[in-house]
Amino acid sequence: MPWNPIIKSRRDWETIPNLYDYESVRKEFSWEQARAELDGLPEGQGLNIAHEAVVRHATGSLGQQTAIRWLGKSGQVEDYSYARLDDLTNRFANALQGLGVVKGDRVFVLAGRIPELYIAALGTLKHRALFCPLFSAFGPEPIRARLTIGQAKVLVTTESLYQRKVAGILETLPHLEHVLLIGDEGRPTAIPGTQNFHELLEQHPHTYRIGPTDPEDAALLHFTSGTTGTPKGALHVHGAVAAHHITGKLALDFHPTDIFWCTADPGWVTGTSYGIIAPLTNGLTCIVDEADFDAERWYGILQDHRVSVWYTAPTAIRMMMKVGVDLVRKYDLRPLRFLASVGEPLNPEAVVWGEKAFGRPFHDNWWQTETGGIMIANYAAMDVHPGSMGRPLPGIEAGIVKKTESGGVEVVDQPDVQGELALRPGWPSMFRGYWNEPERYKKCFAGGWYLTGDVARKDADGYFWFVGRADDVIKTSGHLIGPFEVESVLIEHTAVAEAAVIGKPDPVAMEIVKAFVSLKDGHEPSDALRRELLGFARARLGAAVAPKEIAFLPTLPKTRSGKIMRRLLKARELGLPEGDTSTLEA
Ligand code: AMP
Repeated sequence: MPWNPIIKSRRDWETIPNLYDYESVRKEFSWEQARAELDGLPEGQGLNIAHEAVVRHATGSLGQQTAIRWLGKSGQVEDYSYARLDDLTNRFANALQGLGVVKGDRVFVLAGRIPELYIAALGTLKHRALFCPLFSAFGPEPIRARLTIGQAKVLVTTESLYQRKVAGILETLPHLEHVLLIGDEGRPTAIPGTQNFHELLEQHPHTYRIGPTDPEDAALLHFTSGTTGTPKGALHVHGAVAAHHITGKLALDFHPTDIFWCTADPGWVTGTSYGIIAPLTNGLTCIVDEADFDAERWYGILQDHRVSVWYTAPTAIRMMMKVGVDLVRKYDLRPLRFLASVGEPLNPEAVVWGEKAFGRPFHDNWWQTETGGIMIANYAAMDVHPGSMGRPLPGIEAGIVKKTESGGVEVVDQPDVQGELALRPGWPSMFRGYWNEPERYKKCFAGGWYLTGDVARKDADGYFWFVGRADDVIKTSGHLIGPFEVESVLIEHTAVAEAAVIGKPDPVAMEIVKAFVSLKDGHEPSDALRRELLGFARARLGAAVAPKEIAFLPTLPKTRSGKIMRRLLKARELGLPEGDTSTLEA
């Protein structure tokens, strides 16, 4: 294990960290208290995420404060105050009502980081329908799969995404009743069978009263990937807002005057929990940048918009590291107080590089779609152990467990012994199920623990260290990709007999998707066929999911029961020992 010096907490704060004393806050903490920081709906009508994120500020002292500052790709800057966001989200909630959308219906949004996405998300939550974001870099096939599994009633998307990715699959989506289109660059759209998002907003009243919302009412459906089978829809409830709110304060050290920038794409859970909900419930100003990564643009945003808390991801940090520290030093980033990272392991070098480039380390934290919010983190007032994910949040019990032969689990007590990372269920943003898949959900629990699918260890100081995934899912540029979804598309090609997909280590993206295929009789490996397969997969899956490399093999290694051994392919790819091959087909 590489040795990295601990980065001592600076203790020269102008702003005292919320989690100043980890041990005592942890001891005193209760979720009831966290919940008590929220408003609740008037007249005891329950707890609704959109009320906490928007209404209570809009109708309170923050009405004119900027909730979202949107930075367009072409240099536009547009501010949405809490009052304006309230008005627009009320209109959207009324529009849903007008379309016959009822509590619990699924409203999907396929869009990049544009204001309409935020309006649709919060308006949907006001109306008590389920907000289901889709990653805009998905191709038609992952979009179709998710809309089908979630039985989408409404899809909000842009005109160009619709034409490129949705029009061709529409026939396969009988549940989809309404497509609301956002004209590109604000232009009106006139595509038959669709409605114009902005016209709908204009036609509907700007007041809306949120109906009674039980904290256990469904609110969000976030798709994630497993090793096998179709994508899973992780269901979250309105009560999760207590966890979003408090983890924003404790793990990201939100203070009322912060300008916060979460660079995550809204198609993934971070973009909702921390790109929308947590900063707004805390009454902050959020920066939303439509454009993709560009080091100069990013440093310019940090400087010009006086960002004080920044939440980004290892792939982006590694790209900044490639550019070097000289560029960043040209910018005045004095307001930047806290830097955090999530989504993949953050290399110790990247943590230390943060110190060099920004005068502050990146604070790694860990969580996943199913947990709904940050579970383990390096805190502002705590020493950072570079390479470690940190320590569990107050209210969260994390452990390292091993499965026993009887099907239960036992907790590993000794420090530095690796096992599966597990959490004691009971925090508010814990997922409540996989959409229509109770069996898959049940399998995530054993012996009173939720099993995360990650392998980790805990050191003698109580810090957790990520070791790897317990399954075959792939993390590329922070996005979880299910190998099965990719393999299923490859074998649709007429030349392909079998396909197996692995994550191949990559210095920037952590892993890239690599596919191995065997061909049907009558087809021969060639560069032309490889290019054709790459293009075939890309057109169906989209750039974010499609394989970047394809290798031909005469046959794929399989167990005697016929399962393709992805692990073996990976070990061979990496030149590692092949492990137990006793079940390998002769
Ligand atoms: P997702 O559900 O797409 O957010 O992906 C969650 C998975 O990403 C986790 O189960 C981990 O495998 C990985 N992950 C997230 N954060 C970290 C981190 N800080 N360090 C290592 N792996 C992480």
